[in-house]
Amino acid sequence: MRMVVSGVPGVGKTSVMEGVAKEKGLSIVNYGSVMFEVAKSQGLVENRDQIRKLSVEKQRDIQEAAAQKIYEMGDVIVDTHCTIKTHGGFYPGLPEWVLRKLKPDRIILVEATPDEIAKRRAKDASRIRDEDKEREISEHQMMNRYVAMAYSMLTGASVKIVFNHDDGLEDAIMEVLDVF
Ligand code: AMP
Ligand code: MG
Repeated sequence: MRMVVSGVPGVGKTSVMEGVAKEKGLSIVNYGSVMFEVAKSQGLVENRDQIRKLSVEKQRDIQEAAAQKIYEMGDVIVDTHCTIKTHGGFYPGLPEWVLRKLKPDRIILVEATPDEIAKRRAKDASRIRDEDKEREISEHQMMNRYVAMAYSMLTGASVKIVFNHDDGLEDAIMEVLDVF
């Protein structure tokens, strides 16, 4: 089964995925890491948070190259974004040509309250997170829901929203495990 997991930056989707992967003996492939490898090898960026600052056209090229690489990895959990917030507006993390290669069966949206997410971003010094106001975080989560259903229409994949509230990591992991 091919599972795609999405959530706005700072929601904790990587932690949720690690719990799921451990339980299921699956590997996680981070879409951003694969894109970073591609972009770095082309001399375009020095850190992963610079990817979303590139032109949308450039990001699309890198995104397509990453889809091919991930496809060749077989059955993995894909840690990615349904939408990426860029200067040009939201752009789709899984446009049609990416979906056609990845062929996901399940789409998981990890969510939390905008207030929880804003606090987590402020605490994470290892990343250069954009400082969105809570209203913008809420808008980003809404866009992810809309586009997730569009991805479902294109692939037949089911969509499940899983909440990763404060002190709720174990519950979130259990909810994703229910999907298998
Ligand atoms: P992450 O560490 O998961 O927040 O991902 C880091 C960066 O990788 C994101 O800010 C995006 O620029 C890029 N990225 C991840 N997944 C995708 C995708 N499916 N399509 C385009 N860009 C992506
Ligand atoms: Mg992550």
